Amino acid sequence: MTTHFKLRAYGKINLGLDVLRKREDGYHEVRMIMQTVGLFDQIDLFISREPGIRIETNLPYLPVNENNLVYKASRLLMEEFQIKSGINIRLRKLIPVAAGMAGGSSDAAAVLVGLNKMFHLGLTERELMERGVKLGADVPYCIMRGTVLSEGIGEKLTPLPPMPQCQVLLAKPAISVSTKFVYENLHIDQFAPEEHPDIDGMIRAIQHNDLYGVTDRLGNVLEKVTVKKYPVIEEIKDYMKKSGAVGTLMSGSGPTVFGLFVSPKAAAEAYEELRYGSRRDLARQTYLTNMYNPKR
Ligand code: ATP
Repeated sequence: MTTHFKLRAYGKINLGLDVLRKREDGYHEVRMIMQTVGLFDQIDLFISREPGIRIETNLPYLPVNENNLVYKASRLLMEEFQIKSGINIRLRKLIPVAAGMAGGSSDAAAVLVGLNKMFHLGLTERELMERGVKLGADVPYCIMRGTVLSEGIGEKLTPLPPMPQCQVLLAKPAISVSTKFVYENLHIDQFAPEEHPDIDGMIRAIQHNDLYGVTDRLGNVLEKVTVKKYPVIEEIKDYMKKSGAVGTLMSGSGPTVFGLFVSPKAAAEAYEELRYGSRRDLARQTYLTNMYNPKR
């Protein structure tokens, strides 16, 4: 048995995020185009003779107990399969935390996939996804990865052809946005039809490998709540557009903003300015990456 596994937990952005309605049970029915990006957290899994789950992380403010999603993911499989040995987890976070990039969900997904291999549990991707949804609505997507249509409350997943490749500039301003606040202040029944993103048009553009067809349709209904409260989100978008981005949008419930660039040079220059230069006031964390699509 291999006693050490190295895993990558990739972050996601939403190319489109629409909310159809608020259900009677309080959940929101969504239609989202999810896309994995090349930015990842590194996870090392070690089997230990000492029973229990131990976590180490580079971010001192993250929980290392049962509140960490990697703990919950490990416990779920270890209890079900009566795994008696212990697990040590080293989690090196790069994906911004509480930022709309599903970092925690992706960590949980990677641990489920990793333990399945490590202990030869024999679970299929679908069986892992069924277990993952108990940890969070985005976990099944983080197991599937790539370009995906997500519906229902996020659990109905349809894989799409890979989104055309381009540069992705990510910038998270120095603010925290609570997902709960955003959804509570979203009055979707007051949206005019043209305020909803054209998700069907975006799917067609992806099917035709038409990058500009996608970038022309980027849209996230949650921006209406966050941009009003945090104008810095719009400032970052404006800066990226002026710098040559062919499209910009807030990811998930924010506050991370992404800009899509066709020109690697323009993307690198905008990255430098936001990271070290005259516009470093706008963002606390900045990364330059690209689309990530797993082989299916
Ligand atoms: P989403 O896009 O799904 O809304 P997010 O980017 O907003 O996700 P995360 O970074 O996944 O949010 O996590 C938010 C909260 O979850 C944090 O407040 C953090 O304390 C807790 N948490 C638990 N485990 C993890 C983990 N492994 N990585 C990051 N956050 C974690």
